[in-house]
Amino acid sequence: MPETVERCPLCGSEHSSLFDHRLFRRQPVSNLLCAGCGLVYQSPRMTADELETFYAREYRQVYQGVEGPTAKDLAVQGGRADALLAFLAEHRVAAARYLDIGASAGVMLQRFAAQFGCQAVGVEPGKAYRRYAQARELTLYADLDALRAAGEPPFDLVSMAHVLEHLPDPVGYLKSLRAYPLSPEGWLLLEVPNLYCHDSFEVAHLTSFSAHTLRETLAQAGYQVVALKAHGRPRSALLPLYLTALARPVESADARRVRPERGVALKRRVGMFRRRVIQRLFPHRAWSPPEGELS
Ligand SMILES: [Zn+2]
Repeated sequence: MPETVERCPLCGSEHSSLFDHRLFRRQPVSNLLCAGCGLVYQSPRMTADELETFYAREYRQVYQGVEGPTAKDLAVQGGRADALLAFLAEHRVAAARYLDIGASAGVMLQRFAAQFGCQAVGVEPGKAYRRYAQARELTLYADLDALRAAGEPPFDLVSMAHVLEHLPDPVGYLKSLRAYPLSPEGWLLLEVPNLYCHDSFEVAHLTSFSAHTLRETLAQAGYQVVALKAHGRPRSALLPLYLTALARPVESADARRVRPERGVALKRRVGMFRRRVIQRLFPHRAWSPPEGELS
């Protein structure tokens, strides 16, 4: 049975209002707007146990109809890897040991390893994807506990592309990464769907971030944001579908108050209206490849 989320995952407020309700592949999905900080989060949602089973087995089937990677999935992952490498190059980031959390079929691991000549290791809970990557001689673990148990030393670059929005406790998770496996001098590379452009209210998306709430989440978890940009690569040249952030751990992370975001509902309406206008004006340039199932 789904669980009700009693407190905002970012600021802890108990006050919220209904932000969006819809059916996603015949499942009802409700998202709330936190009255304290403006975070949009799903409630009710799957429990921790339900989420574990979902990612081990059902996730890819629900989204793609098959368990292993499809050609389109691999193409999107390749395009995403190139876009993230370009973003890292802009900020002169390189790595000797690279970890990709949510490594999927390992496409980013391969491209990053080729670019940096580094050791590349992945964490991926989905069995079929993990096996696909392992069959290509990549090192993948099911979760961070398995990574730690294997005695993997810390990493100077950790990426989480389209992972944070799936986690029940994004602040707690990012905090724990600072202890292990991210090295104290390391870089954290994040990408999430952009609440103000992406049609993001899916059953597996527990939080829908704006640039503001992503920054606040990173700050609460003890990171300094070095760069954050909205863009559409690899899916669109025109629509700011995604938010990509580069951050570093802060040495002494003091408790701080979350800075609230205001006007979230209006910003979402304006953003989605702008998206519809761009799609109508430039139908052949808004999406590349054509709009599909993946986020
Ligand atoms: Zn809040």
